[in-house]
Amino acid sequence: MPASVLIVEDEPAILELIAINLQHAGFDALRAKSAEEAGRLLNDVLPDLVLLDWMLPGQSGLALARRLRGDARTRELPLIFLTARADESDKLAGLESGADDYITKPFSTKELVARIRAVLRRRKPQHGDEPVEIAGLRLDPSAHLVAGNGRPLALGPTEFRLLHYLLTHPNRVYSRAQLLDEVWGDHVFIEERTVDVHIRRLRQALAPSGHDALIETVRGSGYALRTAVVAPAVARG
Ligand code: CA
Repeated sequence: MPASVLIVEDEPAILELIAINLQHAGFDALRAKSAEEAGRLLNDVLPDLVLLDWMLPGQSGLALARRLRGDARTRELPLIFLTARADESDKLAGLESGADDYITKPFSTKELVARIRAVLRRRKPQHGDEPVEIAGLRLDPSAHLVAGNGRPLALGPTEFRLLHYLLTHPNRVYSRAQLLDEVWGDHVFIEERTVDVHIRRLRQALAPSGHDALIETVRGSGYALRTAVVAPAVARG
């Protein structure tokens, strides 16, 4: 069955161009000209991915993204922003809203299709469904739950995948590029600084139970998850 992509774009020519190219690439293309229309459509159909224009008349793309992330039914829906702005604060606002990727206009349809495939690929479960627990930090993939010392912790979808990867590969140092490969699936189009943003958010999410201390920044190398918090080395006499 072809993957379905909902395109939310108010420019009819761009909407049609994207839809035709996605169909040529083997996707089912669903169309909406506004966030409101997309919202109505999503009540009936759940696509495999949403391609969302940032600047829309009426409700903005960002507002729709936040609404989708706030609803249990659409929380996990992969989301790529189409934005004419390359502005850094918008990119960060998009990331905070839980977008999986951005594409800045103008873009090539080849690049667009490659990014859609990359997001769909990395959304597939990769590391098994067995719960994993280290030092009182437990992640249950099938229930999609994380708990620190039995206390539930709230993680975004990317932080969840990142933590799952680190918990199943502890005590090894991963560079940002390696983490992008392993967790994001295809790092060709994603800046390495994206990893830092998600590591910061992961630490914030783990802070209530103190498990943020398990995530170590290895200067000049990357990140590692330790199975225990290591105290600074003390010289012994
Ligand atoms: Ca627009």
